[in-house]
Amino acid sequence: MAAAAELSARGIPVTVFEASAVLGGRARAVSIVKAGKRTTVDNGQHLLIGAYRETQRLMRLVGADPGQLLARLPLALNFPGEISIRAPRLPAPLHLAAALLGARGLNLSEKFAAIRFMRRLKKDRFQAQQDDTVAALLERHGQPARLCKFIWEPLCLAALNTPADAASAEVFVTVLQDSLGGATGASDLLLPRADLGALFPDVAARYVEGAGGRVLKNEAIRHIAQASGGGFMLRSAATDHGRYAQLILAVAPYHLAALIAELPGLDELGRQVAKLTWEPIVTCYLAYPPTVRLASAMQGHADGLVQWLFDRGQLGGPAGLFAAVISAHGRHQALSQEQLAARIHEEIAAVTPGLPAPLWSQVISEKRATFACVPGLDRPAAATAVPGLFLAGDYVASDYPATLESAVRSGVNAAKCAARRAAAFANRAA
Ligand SMILES: Cc1cc2nc3c(=O)[nH]c(=O)nc-3n(C[C@H](O)[C@H](O)[C@H](O)COP(=O)(O)OP(=O)(O)OC[C@H]3O[C@@H](n4cnc5c(N)ncnc54)[C@H](O)[C@@H]3O)c2cc1C
Repeated sequence: MAAAAELSARGIPVTVFEASAVLGGRARAVSIVKAGKRTTVDNGQHLLIGAYRETQRLMRLVGADPGQLLARLPLALNFPGEISIRAPRLPAPLHLAAALLGARGLNLSEKFAAIRFMRRLKKDRFQAQQDDTVAALLERHGQPARLCKFIWEPLCLAALNTPADAASAEVFVTVLQDSLGGATGASDLLLPRADLGALFPDVAARYVEGAGGRVLKNEAIRHIAQASGGGFMLRSAATDHGRYAQLILAVAPYHLAALIAELPGLDELGRQVAKLTWEPIVTCYLAYPPTVRLASAMQGHADGLVQWLFDRGQLGGPAGLFAAVISAHGRHQALSQEQLAARIHEEIAAVTPGLPAPLWSQVISEKRATFACVPGLDRPAAATAVPGLFLAGDYVASDYPATLESAVRSGVNAAKCAARRAAAFANRAA
């Protein structure tokens, strides 16, 4: 949808084919019926940060106001009974130093170790060795165990969806550079106040249609072939969609192979994406009576299965609705959905005195939420060996992990590639 919006803004007509009945892909709204009532939740609780500039720009472009749709909170890490860090509204990088120095639950030597680490990374221009893991990086920089447990490892899991002992240090330091080491506001937490459809893709679809484009849902493309006079012939199960001059494939990598199978010269691309491995994300929604609320809209958990807990009631959702997030693989995968929901409730109850039993729960498990962001990944470029065929998606080459921002940036980049090619053709024809 980012690519479609960018092309529409440039006056280039587009058709979007979406396999699903809803837009948004791995960041979509999901309608569920609970206690006899239809409710909309997301396929997974998403968190954006101030450094997601392109996502916010695109939201504004299509008419989705980030100021209204996202709750902007200064960076705060709150692990109840353990540590609490809150960045004051000071110019960068003072906000970070002040946040670390004022942190509750860290001793002075831990605070200075964190500040030294950030200063060292800055001096090294946020470059890390290509084959280093985050755990190795933290060890080399002498980061104390509590700092790793409550700051660096949770940030690594949240941003890269990959445990620190397997995650790419190179990508991690880029995220640190853009967020903690970035301009004032870059480290702000942006929490969706609306469902993920309303946040961008549904609004973007109206924008694309308003610009003369089409957005076709329930229309999975099954077959792509090069057209004899140039361009591509597209077919879904029931319909021959005819010829398109250029094509942006904005599918997840695990859907790419089948689509490019009959296009020439793309074997290497097929091999490249086949090497990516996957990490899951589980979101468990727990609905408590409306009077129940957390001390803050978001809190960290470090000792159980839950990693982050969000109070949707404080974020424009129904009062009492919590979303518990478990990133990456782990021992939770051995539990059934009922066992998992029960364990998660117990963990929340342990830090929330007087918590009643939930009225209902819903576990949503995304098995291939993101690619595993391991060192030395070989991610494909936007331009392919087939002229006029471009790739968009969170896995396309970039210095960012699999996030909304990397997906949006790559969509915009693919749109620019296609627009440049269209302009070159137009010039030649003139
Ligand atoms: C549970 C969960 C939590 C996450 N949390 C965060 C977070 O907090 N912050 C963050 O930044 N990122 C988060 N992410 C990652 C983020 O959602 C993804 O990086 C991003 O949505 C990927 O977008 P994409 O466009 O690359 O791919 P996708 O979202 O996978 O989109 C691909 C689209 O292609 C469609 N498609 C596939 N095959 C066909 C076909 N043959 N024809 C037509 N259409 C087809 C699919 O239906 C889908 O809509 C999370 C992801 C998950 C799953």
